[in-house]
Amino acid sequence: MAKILDQPRYKCALTAMQTVQSITGAIPILHSGPGCGGKLAGGAGSSGHFSFNIFPCTNLSEKEVVFGGEKRLKETIENALKVIDAELYVVLTSCTSEVIGDDAEEIVRSFKNADKPVIYASTPGFKGNNYVGNDWVIKAIIEQYLKPAEKKTKGLVNIWAGLPLHDPFWLGNLRELEKLVEELGLIPNTIFGHDRGIKNLEKVPEAEFNLLVSPWLGLENVKLLERKFGTPFLQYPTIPIGATETSRFLRAVGEFTGVDKEKVESIIHKHESEYFYYIERFADVFLETRVMAKRFVVVSDSQYSLALTRFLVNDLGLYPAKQYITDDAPLKHRKQIKEYFKELNYEIEAEVEFSSDGYKIHEEIRNTEYYGYPLILGSSWEKKIAKETKAHYLAISWPINERLVINSSYVGYAGGLKLLEDIYSVVLTRFN
Ligand code: SF4
Repeated sequence: MAKILDQPRYKCALTAMQTVQSITGAIPILHSGPGCGGKLAGGAGSSGHFSFNIFPCTNLSEKEVVFGGEKRLKETIENALKVIDAELYVVLTSCTSEVIGDDAEEIVRSFKNADKPVIYASTPGFKGNNYVGNDWVIKAIIEQYLKPAEKKTKGLVNIWAGLPLHDPFWLGNLRELEKLVEELGLIPNTIFGHDRGIKNLEKVPEAEFNLLVSPWLGLENVKLLERKFGTPFLQYPTIPIGATETSRFLRAVGEFTGVDKEKVESIIHKHESEYFYYIERFADVFLETRVMAKRFVVVSDSQYSLALTRFLVNDLGLYPAKQYITDDAPLKHRKQIKEYFKELNYEIEAEVEFSSDGYKIHEEIRNTEYYGYPLILGSSWEKKIAKETKAHYLAISWPINERLVINSSYVGYAGGLKLLEDIYSVVLTRFN
């Protein structure tokens, strides 16, 4: 029987308009009713030149539902090309336009000789959530916009990680990943955020490598890039947080791209000695603040549940209770994702459940013995159960209502320290 979930952890596929809006110079054109864009808008950090509230939309109404909306879509694209100064126009379909059978692809094809590129992605909410919607939009860009490069640029690495705007730390994380890759002597290339956008998008085919930092999101697209442009890819399954994972990440990227091993080790040595200098200085806080239980729970998407579990076990010596993955990860990837939770230090393995049923998750947390005040990392939905269980609680995942994240990041050595700061800033409030 169908269930009603009262604590949404993701939005519908049309929210992939956020992916388009995160590429400076690109704009989505929604072929949808007026309510979709309004409902999917929201979240911090979405204002700006082409904000959530500034996008062309066909505003489908009863008339188009009865007689078809293709004419209206054609007019909307024509007018968008006239009045909006974008570099790339991405038409996105919705439930309404797909159910009435509009051939948006054909309409978009009629603009192939327009002055600016117009492409199309099928993103009705009934087909999936915004995680898969993001992948469909990137796929559409690869298939319809990118052209093979005349030559490869040595050392150029496309980095793919995170879900634009939905992941509160997506942009900060990308910038930190760029820095790590750059330290290895490579040239990072990302398409999202300030001073990237279309100019970087056009460099994607000339990259020597693709680096996917994700357990599943984006995997199909790096495979597509390999087929289309012959670019080999490395999938690193987790965002690296803290010393253990970041050093592993640097070694893996270094080995894949052929960076001199000694160089990699000297970079790692430099970072680890600084990292452990800070850990040593604050070891009294970590060791003596025994008020926090050793057991923790993460309620987040595949990326964060995995990355935080690895950090808290490998770097902080905590023990995982059952971990929850809320992004409705595609079934074909779940077995592998579960395997990643077995690759923890000290032969520890974490039990994982894929669920977006907040009621059930909270019931289970309520009935779990944490042997002390638990640590709960999740979204604002976890605030209530955290209060009830007197937990130490940190919001790290959408929806976040009580934190403003501008360009913070938990990636890398500095990201691990930042996460410790955030966790222990909560722990210390118990005494102060
Ligand atoms: S689920 Fe369908 S109708 Fe609802 S916002 Fe998404 S595209 Fe629009």
